[in-house]
Parts: sequence; C-alpha cells; structure tokens
Amino acid sequence: MIRYLKHKVFQVISDISEQEKVQCYVIGGYVRDIILERPSKDIDVVVLGDGIKIAERCAGQLGQNVSVHVFKNFGTAQIKLKGVEIEFVGARKESYNRNSRKPIVESGTLEDDQNRRDFTINAMAISLNKASFGELVDPFNGLDDIRDKRIVTPLDPDITFSDDPLRMMRAIRFASQLDFTIDPETFKAIQKNRERITIVSKERIVDELNKIVLSPKPSVGFILLEKSGLLQVIFPELSGMKGVETKSGVAHKDNFYHTLKVLDNLSQVTGDLWLRWAAILHDIGKPKTKRFDDNLGWTFHNHNFIGSKMIPGIFRRMKLPLNEKMKFVQKMVNLHMRPIVLAEDTVSDSAVRRLLFEAGDDIDKLMNLCEADITSKNEDKVKQYLNNFRMVREKLEEIEAKDRIRNFQPPVTGEEIMETFDLKPCREVGDIKSAIKDAILDGIIPNEHDEARKYMLNIAREMGLEPIR
Ligand code: ATP
Repeated sequence: MIRYLKHKVFQVISDISEQEKVQCYVIGGYVRDIILERPSKDIDVVVLGDGIKIAERCAGQLGQNVSVHVFKNFGTAQIKLKGVEIEFVGARKESYNRNSRKPIVESGTLEDDQNRRDFTINAMAISLNKASFGELVDPFNGLDDIRDKRIVTPLDPDITFSDDPLRMMRAIRFASQLDFTIDPETFKAIQKNRERITIVSKERIVDELNKIVLSPKPSVGFILLEKSGLLQVIFPELSGMKGVETKSGVAHKDNFYHTLKVLDNLSQVTGDLWLRWAAILHDIGKPKTKRFDDNLGWTFHNHNFIGSKMIPGIFRRMKLPLNEKMKFVQKMVNLHMRPIVLAEDTVSDSAVRRLLFEAGDDIDKLMNLCEADITSKNEDKVKQYLNNFRMVREKLEEIEAKDRIRNFQPPVTGEEIMETFDLKPCREVGDIKSAIKDAILDGIIPNEHDEARKYMLNIAREMGLEPIR
C-alpha cells in the first residue's frame, strides 16, 4: 500500500508517531477511495493515544501557517492543508442504546475502532508506523469486497443497523455511488430495520438522499430504497407512484419506473442537483389527478400544476431548502408539459414568447428535462419526439433573437408610468405595466420603448387617465 501514501503528511505522521511512541493508521473512506482510485480529500487518521497532541505536533512540523482546529468534546483535531483535510481521532469503542444513534464512547484498540465501522470496505486501515509502514490492516476482508463490489457489514447487520439506522441510507448510497451490490443478509437487515430510520434526523437522511440523487445512475439507489421499504417511510409520495392499474383492458405506465428512467436520462446530461430533483418530482401530481375516461383512457389532467403545488410540503417535511432552489423545482414541474405543445406546426409565436417569459433563463434546463422525459421503448417514436424538441429549440432561439424575452425587462418602467400620469404607486400602474407586457408577448407591439410608450398612452386613455404634460 506504500504507493498510496505519497502525500508528505504521511511521512510526517510516521516520524512523529515514532517519537511519541503511539501508533497511527489511516482509516475508513480514504483507504477505500485510494484503492478504488476515486478522488478523496478527507484523510482520517486513527491514533492509539492522544490524537490532539499528534495533530498539534504534525501541524508544527508542516509549517508555520498550518493551524489545528481542536474539537475537545469529540477528542478530535483537524488540520487543513491546501485542499486536504486531515482529521486525527483517538481509537474508540462504541456502545449504543435503543433510542438514540448517539453511541457511548470510550477509548479502545485499533480492532475496537474497526469493529465500529459501518461496512467492510470502510473498515480498512493502513499503518503509518515505522516498522509496518504501508501495511494494510483488513480484518473483515474489505479488499475482497471492493474487488467483488459488495457492501456488507463487518458484524451482525441487524445490530449494525439497529444501533445506527443512518447506516441503512449509507449502504444504499454507496451501492448507488459505486455501483456495488448489497449483500443479501445485509439487505434483509435493512428491510427488517427500516422503521428505525425515524430516529435519524431529517437533515442526515436528506444528505444521504442527495448523494443518491447525484450518483451516476440514481435509479440504482431509488430502486434499493423502494425494495428495502425505506422509501415508503422517507418519501411516500414517490413510492406511491409505483404500480399499474388496468381498466377496460387499458393500463397506464408505471410512473415510479418512468420517473426513474427520466432521472437516469437527465443524469447523463447534467450534474445539477435541483434539475435532477425536478425530474424526480415532475410527475408527482399524477396519482392525485388520475382518472379513467371511457373515450380517452387514463388521464392525468393538470398533474403538472397539482405536482408543483405539492412541492413545498414535500420540501418542508424532508428538510430540503425552501428558497429559490425550491421555486426552481416548482417552475420546472409546472412547465414540463408546455414545450410538447410548441412542437405543433400551428403554434403561434405568442405561445413561444409566453414560455420564454415564464421559463426565463431556465429554458435550456426545461428543455433538458423534457428531452429526458421521452422514455418510449419504440426507437422511431423516440427519434420523432427528439426531432420535435429540436424544432422547439429552434423556434425558441428564433423568437428570442427577435424579441429578447428570456430576461424580460419592461420597456416602460413603473416610474415612467407614475411620472407620466402623476400617480402614486397604485393598482393602475400595475395594470398598465401588465397590459404592456401582454401586448409584447402577444405580438401586438414589439419589445421597444417608443412603441410601448405609445401603447401605454392609449390604454391609459381608455382607463380615463391623461398624461400631465
Ligand atoms: P464520503 O466521503 O463519500 O461521505 P465516507 O465513508 O468517507 O464517504 P464519512 O462520513 O466521511 O464518509 O466517514 C468516514 C468513515 O467513518 C467511514 O468510511 C466509516 O468508516 C466511518 N463512518 C462514518 N459514518 C459511520 C456510521 N454511521 N457508522 C459507522 N461508521 C461510520
């Protein structure tokens, strides 16, 4: 393993541990990631003794402006070095009680410290001690599990997950991030302990969920969440989309698997977390709006609007942000059916302008979502739909070049309206402004100041207002 220990800090730790006569090991995620050849910035060092003292001595050795942050309560210390964070922790032994995922901690041996780790691939250590520098300490054969792409707990999985139920989310997150398989016994224990996830804070759950959303093929994680029963507990709206109903011999598609396909499609073109969330939620209003019509078959009328209205409740409960990120997701969900209509030959320019106005600078993201929403198995249909959207993109570009609607700024400001008619801020000012905007979007006047001013004078006259000069 010596070849993995190129960073100068490892030599420094090794020298100091020799002088202080305490043993030090790199451990956990860093070891896993160097073996997997994944980039990793966080180095965890376990110290069989006083971790804070070793950290302080290392910082001294590494240079004058290297500082140590000490977290006395946890007995840990951290050094930050040009983009790398090194955390020093005393080896510990943990025991749990039933109602909390906070363990009772006491100091322990390296073996104790490895026993408390969540998965075999996260329990490996590499020695930094002089006599054994670079030796792998791998009591649970984590190296084999990396080779076999397996997530398995070092000890009884039932106890591991019951002790700290967040580990269930972590198991699924690693499976999705690394494209690993969860060992059957480990998975059974997740199914058994699924309800215990409720003792974990929403913030920790959503952190893991977001890592699943950002993984290369997020459906891997979501399918595991569903199969384990965790999804039903943490995100019932999504698991509620699973299933197919048939009436008069007509079946609708399974909206859960459709959603996951859209999410995977989109993930191939963007790493944008919130656009991925828009994919997850784009059809969330379908179960609520599902109807069977004898002539039309299954309909989901207005599901985009109903779906966008469900989002604040979901974000609040899951402790997702209630700021402009949420508004963006709502906007995408609400607008996701609109570009399809624009593909028709007969569509008016004003429909295109209205969409540009409503989507603003997010129009390209909306088009990415719509293209990802094509999940037909029929390749000819896929080609035809993609071609339709290519035409929609052309129309959007053409109209945008002409009318500049994306970043719409009213050509006549509220101030100008107030000055012209000697008005204080009032409803009429708003009415005039929106009449001008509508006239531009409907193509009655161009998006220019002079024409807009003329229009303003006309409609104001109809409202009984005359300019003061
Ligand atoms: P990532 O950096 O991708 O989040 P990681 O495994 O490095 O992955 P950390 O949360 O930094 O995640 O944890 C570092 C190490 O601490 C893990 O590799 C594991 O050994 C241990 N660990 C973290 N969380 C738990 C937990 N809930 N239960 C047991 N061990 C844990």
